[in-house]
Amino acid sequence: GYTSREYLNAESATMYTAARNRMSSSLLAEQWQARQSLPLWRYRQKIVDMIGQNQVIVLTGETGSGKTTQVPQFVLEDYELNGRGAEVRVVVTQPRRIAAISVAERVAWERGEPLGRSVGYSIRLESVPPRPWGSILYCTTGVLLRRLQRRDGATGISHIIIDEVHERDLETDFLLIVVRELLQSHPSLRVVVMSATVDSSIYDRYFNNCPVISVPGMMHPVQVFHLDDLPHLMGQYNFIVPKFPMARITDEEEVDTDLVANVISWIAEEYSQTDGSILCFLPGLDHIIMIKERLQKMPAGKKMIILPLHSQLPAGEQRAAFTRAPAGLRKVILATNIAETSVTIDDVVYVVDSGKVKEKQYDPSLNMNILRVQWTSQASARQRQGRAGRVRAGFCFRMYTSQVFCTMNEHQVPEMQRVPLEELCLQIKAIASAAANNTSVSAGPSHSNIVRFLSKALQPPNIHAVHAAIRLLKDLGAIDMQENLTPLGMTLAKLAVPPRFGKMLIYGALLGSLEPVLTIVAAACFRDPFVAPINKRDEADKMRASFAVGLSYGSDQLALVTAFEQWTAACSQGQGFVFCERCFLAPATMKLIAGMRQQLRRTLLEAGIKEQFIKPTSQGSMHVARSLLVAGLYPSIAGSEFCRESRGMKNATKHAYRWRLGFKVNNGRVLIHPTSVISEKQLNPASHYYLVFQEKVQTSQVFVRGCTLLPALPVVLLSWRVKISSEPPASELTGDWMVLEVEGWLKFLIDRRSGSVLLELRE
Ligand code: ADP
Ligand code: MG
Repeated sequence: GYTSREYLNAESATMYTAARNRMSSSLLAEQWQARQSLPLWRYRQKIVDMIGQNQVIVLTGETGSGKTTQVPQFVLEDYELNGRGAEVRVVVTQPRRIAAISVAERVAWERGEPLGRSVGYSIRLESVPPRPWGSILYCTTGVLLRRLQRRDGATGISHIIIDEVHERDLETDFLLIVVRELLQSHPSLRVVVMSATVDSSIYDRYFNNCPVISVPGMMHPVQVFHLDDLPHLMGQYNFIVPKFPMARITDEEEVDTDLVANVISWIAEEYSQTDGSILCFLPGLDHIIMIKERLQKMPAGKKMIILPLHSQLPAGEQRAAFTRAPAGLRKVILATNIAETSVTIDDVVYVVDSGKVKEKQYDPSLNMNILRVQWTSQASARQRQGRAGRVRAGFCFRMYTSQVFCTMNEHQVPEMQRVPLEELCLQIKAIASAAANNTSVSAGPSHSNIVRFLSKALQPPNIHAVHAAIRLLKDLGAIDMQENLTPLGMTLAKLAVPPRFGKMLIYGALLGSLEPVLTIVAAACFRDPFVAPINKRDEADKMRASFAVGLSYGSDQLALVTAFEQWTAACSQGQGFVFCERCFLAPATMKLIAGMRQQLRRTLLEAGIKEQFIKPTSQGSMHVARSLLVAGLYPSIAGSEFCRESRGMKNATKHAYRWRLGFKVNNGRVLIHPTSVISEKQLNPASHYYLVFQEKVQTSQVFVRGCTLLPALPVVLLSWRVKISSEPPASELTGDWMVLEVEGWLKFLIDRRSGSVLLELRE
């Protein structure tokens, strides 16, 4: 065989011969050429040596320099050429599913093999595993984390490559803690931490000042234009100038799809003499669909091949983005920030940057993760810009002013510091219970204590956020008072959804009402599908309310469930789009909800819920679904009460009062948001009502949105913190009753024999 030295010093001829044994020579030259032209190629000896001599190294290099595709191959080839190929198993983690697949396919191609031999991938719910030895596995971070939760999960892995650490997503930061602990119990394990060019010093400090290797890139210059430059640049194109809504573009939530489509079509015409693809960064799938539709209607659209690129895309369709456009057609890729660093498309010359990103964010009022569209960071904007300079000098068009750029954050805040942590804490407990069985992760008290475990993170989260998460998990019944996982907690840990929603789903499945709960949970992941055009707001509100007619209690969630059911029926007759137009629904969001429902159903199955509970049924009980909202959303609950409202004339001697029904949470008054289907006017003033809500927003007053009205019983039965006392609320009461106290401000007098609510008391 070859020695390491020979391999590394050999000119391409040696490698060529070695590699030819594996692949047909006609293809060979192309693969070989591609690999050798990468900036990382010249460093292959240094990289292999450093990995051999150190347990951990940090490697940084510009996006596209070859980190993800080459480093695992350098390692494998080094062992192969030493005749020790069977000793390696390289596992490379990717934060994104689609990146794991596309990179695995690319590397298999470079090695002249089909997937599943020496190269494979594994993502949630889908995998093509490579052979167990002498191989490279690309997997999502979550897949490796779950594997490490199993007994002896790290056995058989020789190298762990943690890729894209600069993304600072929750799972990667979590994996860094787990892997750092692993190093002590597995001295032969080798770890490579890879990132795009950012300040890498936090990573090497984290790993005990390990060595760093930085590979310079080979970027071409990219000329940047901001929104303020565009009128000057495109002035003579009057199709674009009148549509410049300079003010609107700063709106946090919006992407001006007209503007983006016009700029893309302008680029295609202005630079029609030169080729090169256009890459457009958008926050999410809904914007991608909107812009694709708009472009297809434009004259320039006829000469384009428009390819979406986002994480929900099936593997087959995502491949198209990497292939060359047919002659005469301009390739336009509409991508989420997945194209920022995880995947590289070679022939991009023009970048159109919306400046927006969809980010998971914690909403404290909601106590829940939501996806929000917001400005990216300056670091991301520079990464996006760089994507235009891969093949030759390029152009970047920013759909925001240079002023906006200056106000953007320098870097994105790590996910661990901006999202709620209950999901993570649950995973930590799951890892700890694996460690308790003396497995891969070194057992020890450090794992069983959530707070201590998280204090070892790269940038630890806020201690209050950790305590809040632990309290929530206890309230949900996922962990007990000693922080041990309960059976419910174990199931919730396997469901990759926020535990509050997970509990609603599990209850929904077990109580035979999964269908409506699936819709409610899926819809909570996206923005409101009801859209109200400004000039037709009343009409749209009426339409939305019409979906709630017939429900015994008003409910925004159930109105949506009804709308979704009717939309599904309309779709089966090919009328989905017409239905959406008529009912003021966004078709793109409806499709996302439908996709998410299926994903949730598969997730439940994976978590071990029996198929009989999960298989699609014709419908489920709306009443049960409504009550289950309490199980998930409690304590976001308000009770009705009469409020005295003074009417005009402050100085008049006689005050005029008006009594009206209102809602309050603890001591605070809340108003039902005007978009809700529930109208306070329609409520019977003589009854008590409870209102469970999804979100509380403070503007001039406190509004609650996403509301469902409820009778008392579900509140009593499904709220988490119920105290039972038998102290009489009023001395004259006698009989067989008990008092249930919910959160201290709601009290119910319950008849012990019938279980009915005799009296509701509010503080
Ligand atoms: P890095 O990880 O440093 O960003 P990669 O290893 O992902 O770089 O990519 C190196 C090069 O490999 C890219 O510049 C591109 O030319 C090529 N490449 C990677 N993935 C694919 C793919 N799926 N199809 C075609 N080319 C690819
Ligand atoms: Mg990469």
